Amino acid sequence: MKKIIIAIDGHSSCGKSSLAKALGEAIDYTYISSGDMYRAVTLYFLRNKVNINNPEAVAEALKNIQLEFKRIDGQNRIFLNGEDVSEEIRSMPVAEWVSPVAAIPAVRREMVRQQRLMGEQKGIVMDGRDIGTVVFPNAELKIFLTADLEERARRRYKELLENGYDVEFEDVLQNLEERDRIDSTRADSPLTVADDARILDNTNLNREQSLAKALEMYRETLAALEAQKEA
Ligand code: C5P
Repeated sequence: MKKIIIAIDGHSSCGKSSLAKALGEAIDYTYISSGDMYRAVTLYFLRNKVNINNPEAVAEALKNIQLEFKRIDGQNRIFLNGEDVSEEIRSMPVAEWVSPVAAIPAVRREMVRQQRLMGEQKGIVMDGRDIGTVVFPNAELKIFLTADLEERARRRYKELLENGYDVEFEDVLQNLEERDRIDSTRADSPLTVADDARILDNTNLNREQSLAKALEMYRETLAALEAQKEA
């Protein structure tokens, strides 16, 4: 069966990674979270007190960062210079700094370079903000996932509490709003809907229903590619 690239973009906390992961499992594709890569870079910057306004310091730091994804016990884990940081990258300090870090062109250039290498063999589902617009403009299937802000904040708040983080709902809501604002207005690769993306609003859908919709889009894409080949 033909392997394709599936790009899933959208706002913060609308379930992109859950959907991308479930879709990857359902069709046996590799799932890659580009957000985790930006988060791991942010964690490195925080730990090493890298001044994000100093281009030399940023360039030097990027040279010292090695990222790797590994599948352990059925879970995708991200390694920063050999250390599993999958949990730590979900902390609030990282969430607060990730959008400013991800707005730095040098950071984006390096992440995009690595993401394209990962896509060379196709058969991947990658989620992020600029996957269908910048990283893989030729992706065969582009899904733009979205949901109401309040609903996204509720989901994120619940997830943080479940993971033992002591947070206030208002702070989570504000963080999401701020990340949406920075992601959508930055000069380099802002979050926008690709012309050929299919919109999936999951405000009123549960995980299974979202997955069912995405699978339907995947099958339709394959069928359209087959039809093109025969024409
Ligand atoms: O996907 P997630 O919300 O974990 O991503 C964290 C942050 O990384 C986003 O708020 C955004 O600022 C940045 N990001 C990005 N481009 C991507 C993926 C994530 O700028 N492709």
